[in-house]
Amino acid sequence: MDKITTSIITIGDELLIGQTIDTNSAWMAQQLNAMGIWVHRRVAIGDVREDILDALTKESAVSDIVLITGGLGPTADDITKPTLCEYFNTRLVQNQEALDNVLHIFESRGLPMLQRNIDQSLVPEAATVIENKRGTAPGMWFEKEGKIYVSMPGVPHEMKGIMENYVLPKLEAHFKTPAVVHQTLVTSGMGESFIAERLVAFEAKLPPHIKLAYLPSYSLLKLRLTGQGKDKLSVAAEVSILFHQLKALLEDITVTDQDISMGEVLGKLLKEKGKTMGTAESCTGGLISSWITAVPGSSVYFKGSAVTYANEMKVKMLGVKPETLQEHGAVSEATVREMAAGALTLLQTDYVIAVSGIMGPDGGTPEKPVGTVWMAVASAAKTVTVKYQLRYDRERNTQMTAVYAMNELRKLILE
Ligand code: AMP
Ligand code: MG
Repeated sequence: MDKITTSIITIGDELLIGQTIDTNSAWMAQQLNAMGIWVHRRVAIGDVREDILDALTKESAVSDIVLITGGLGPTADDITKPTLCEYFNTRLVQNQEALDNVLHIFESRGLPMLQRNIDQSLVPEAATVIENKRGTAPGMWFEKEGKIYVSMPGVPHEMKGIMENYVLPKLEAHFKTPAVVHQTLVTSGMGESFIAERLVAFEAKLPPHIKLAYLPSYSLLKLRLTGQGKDKLSVAAEVSILFHQLKALLEDITVTDQDISMGEVLGKLLKEKGKTMGTAESCTGGLISSWITAVPGSSVYFKGSAVTYANEMKVKMLGVKPETLQEHGAVSEATVREMAAGALTLLQTDYVIAVSGIMGPDGGTPEKPVGTVWMAVASAAKTVTVKYQLRYDRERNTQMTAVYAMNELRKLILE
């Protein structure tokens, strides 16, 4: 079974100066990987003719498929189209379907149209035009010397539409791809080196076509088993048996046996138990409720949040005693305890999360340095408080606090 390889070329000066994060190639890689097409290289280049030509030559020498995004806008800085013409030794011609699409988009939005918009429907003669329902720049499919090239707009949701509606199905039909099966276990509470020690015997007996990957993120560690083979069902069966063994070995630290977010983990659990939750957030400023409500259908179990950033609001909204704040400070066990109790009363939920911490870069003191976080998770019957001493920047401290607090609630719900 020959491995089918892809190179992804992302074009745009904004990618090189870090103004735009290249999310296109990550998304494309995920889609291709799920189909059994291996991404061999990802290359980011600027809107520079020589660099585009050079990347096309080099990537087509090592890959069967070259996927390109960016540089298809109507402005002078976008030069992918004329450069493709040069590379494929062809010229720009007007494409009627692409022109109809541009006319339709401007008409339906009631916008005046310029020549440069009409020029979006000029395409290299050698290309097969791919309809872009979400924008004015069409996708373009080329074949040359046994290699496939696809050029797509940089705008992520336009690229995704073209990939899903056309490119992925066509690649699947064109190549006989191997079956790829992933299963992911999410753990918390043990470092990857310690887990690796525990899994020495398990890893030693993995067959060559099944791999184990360690993916740490925040306080969680994802373990991904990936199997490849000719027959999807037999690979899936093999991976499934090994995944069960892996789960048994790590049962004490498992958060979930699916590749899902902490918000989804809590959501599943609360739905299963028919319970509700809410949050009282100081240092996370609503991040926890934002992650919870990012899950469709969360209204079934999530009631709301009191974002009490100022002490005054902790008193007014949650009934935290001014004496408690005076005596122990806003970042203290006593305060998060009262925040949790107040949130249970205010929100009338089965469970609450309360957090208060110093996220930095300022605001630390010798007794409470930056990164000091107190959190409480509570039900009517029980309150658990935990202190963390984090050591990152503001953004990461905030996200870590959210993950830790959500994990504490998960444990309380399971009790
Ligand atoms: P373009 O097709 O070059 O006109 O790209 C239009 C917009 O898409 C750019 O201004 C970026 O904001 C966005 N974009 C381009 N390339 C990428 C990429 N690789 N990942 C995410 N966004 C991108
Ligand atoms: Mg651009």
